Amino acid sequence: ENYHAVLTENRKLFNELQELKGNIRVFCRVRPFLPGQGAPDTVVEYIGEDGELVVTNPTRPGKDGLRKFRFNKVYSPAANQAEVFTDIKPLVRSVLDGFNVCIFAYGQTGSGKTYTMTGPDGASEEDWGVNYRALNDLFKISQSRKGNINYEVGVQMVEIYNEQVLDLLSDDSSQKKLGILSTTSQNGLAVPDASMYPVKSTSDVITLMDIGLQNRSVGATAMNERSSRSHSIVTVHVRGKDTKTGSVLYGNLHLVDLAGSERVDRSEVKGDRLREAQHINKSLSSLGDVIFSLASKSSHIPYRNSKLTQLLQSSLGGQAKTLMFVQLNPDAISYSESMSTLKFAERVSGVELGAAKSSK
Ligand code: ADP
Repeated sequence: ENYHAVLTENRKLFNELQELKGNIRVFCRVRPFLPGQGAPDTVVEYIGEDGELVVTNPTRPGKDGLRKFRFNKVYSPAANQAEVFTDIKPLVRSVLDGFNVCIFAYGQTGSGKTYTMTGPDGASEEDWGVNYRALNDLFKISQSRKGNINYEVGVQMVEIYNEQVLDLLSDDSSQKKLGILSTTSQNGLAVPDASMYPVKSTSDVITLMDIGLQNRSVGATAMNERSSRSHSIVTVHVRGKDTKTGSVLYGNLHLVDLAGSERVDRSEVKGDRLREAQHINKSLSSLGDVIFSLASKSSHIPYRNSKLTQLLQSSLGGQAKTLMFVQLNPDAISYSESMSTLKFAERVSGVELGAAKSSK
């Protein structure tokens, strides 16, 4: 609460500083109503272009029930995938200059996290989410620098489920399907022991992601259920060698689709469901704790409190750049979940994560 007050007081200053590297940026995306869903009591209203979001409490219509939030960006539900990617392109590209970047999607199940990060099932290029677009863009830029800087790109894909890290690219079938691609070791491995595949084109990436997504559903009763209770992390490792000087740079990009943030009613769940809920709760709150500790320049940053924060350590804090997509459901029934999502987002928005590396 104390920190929150300071944040609010310094809101203006933080907004001015938001472009600084080392900060966490928060982009808010509201899912549109889905076909057949109708548009009952819309509770999340999009206002203006200046990063303001107005939320109406469905049980308290009128001025009393209004809450305003301010983020680096607020998208209209009509915003398309290309538009969203345009805004994060510079961030993605900085990986090729040796920065560590972390982009994650936070929100309750069904709010569009996977849509933003991956895209809808069987997405055409137009519907591609951040993951495909980012890799595609990295290849494009690295091609254009070829001869001056030669890049190698490797991809890992893991899932964290009940505090266990599972390699989504490890089984034999993936090796077979990849044919010419083989595992490689490279400096700066963020996920020890998880297989890493060198990728040379967007179609390599599509092949890998398909395998990863398939593996994600193995052993799950229903894929949607399982995927909403695990975090999935795609890590892109970049190694660039300057052909003139021979110097080598490393950058990595973490693309994270977090587990659903909805609170589970503890009186109603037992056994596996309760255990899952506790693990999700723990890792999401650890993520928040790490961000606040970085912000308050604490001498101890509690990275080790969860697998999620351990894995993302190189991309949270220091010279890393972090972006959070806050995803919201538009319907009235999600009001209280939306508010708790927004409060989490408000706490982390504008936070300065560490010293900036001078820009190139
Ligand atoms: P989550 O990953 O948060 O559980 P999903 O990404 O699976 O949510 O989204 C839930 C449903 O809404 C999916 O059918 C998805 O295709 C659809 N959806 C989400 N965001 C959008 C959007 N911006 N435009 C169109 N459909 C969307």
